Amino acid sequence: MTTAASPLLSVRDLTVRYGTALALRDLAFDMPSNSALAVLGPNGAGKSTLARALSGLVPPVAGTVRLDGRDLTGQAPDAIRRAGIVHLPEGRGVFPTLTVLENLRMATARDRRGRSAALERAFEIFPVLRERQRQAAGTLSGGEQQMLSLARALMVDPRLVIADELSLGLAPKMVDVVFASLRRARCAGVAVLMIEQFANRALDFADHCLVMRRGRIVWAGDADLAGPELLRRYLGEATAA
Ligand code: ATP
Repeated sequence: MTTAASPLLSVRDLTVRYGTALALRDLAFDMPSNSALAVLGPNGAGKSTLARALSGLVPPVAGTVRLDGRDLTGQAPDAIRRAGIVHLPEGRGVFPTLTVLENLRMATARDRRGRSAALERAFEIFPVLRERQRQAAGTLSGGEQQMLSLARALMVDPRLVIADELSLGLAPKMVDVVFASLRRARCAGVAVLMIEQFANRALDFADHCLVMRRGRIVWAGDADLAGPELLRRYLGEATAA
């Protein structure tokens, strides 16, 4: 059960190794329901490893991951997804020859009524997908395809979306679409853990921020407090832009 005081996600002493190399060391943090957390850090800091450990893609050697108080540590990715953690861009792909509607329908294994309700919710969050529901997904613009992939992820009613570099390689206009889509997901009650190359944009979006370096958390606090000086100190000039 979640009370006002209990976190949605609770991570304790999380440690991951690749062979003998420690990629995450004793990470500990909480995320409240419906919150947004920006995870920043230089290349190789362990951000993607954190995303992969939370979603079951790499097994931790120590520590715990709890969602709504339920221990998910070491569970398979499918079980973790069913419990409410969706990792993007894993499964980002849309099926280009299928219509928008078919893509959305395929994303959930619910009964008919549950599926209609989930579809209606997806169309409320992304009205453009309702307009284009009969169109083949491959003919959507890049930004619309991003919306469709996020809408597919939301069809399973996740509690937490992990967005790992969703804007990587996208034109600035499409980056706007990605952020707007994640904002809509938040309005629908979903928490977002964001790993993002554009640190300032991530901080604008997020309530809280973690800065990682060499597999550890070196700074944690309100996103508002993570000013330019902190970004320069931990990320260097280039990534702070
Ligand atoms: P970037 O911003 O460059 O994507 P990151 O902060 O996401 O970096 P990770 O990808 O989590 O960093 O990598 C953390 C460390 O673990 C790095 O030193 C990396 O080389 C190492 N690493 C990542 N994946 C593997 C793997 N499959 N096998 C061995 N080492 C790995």
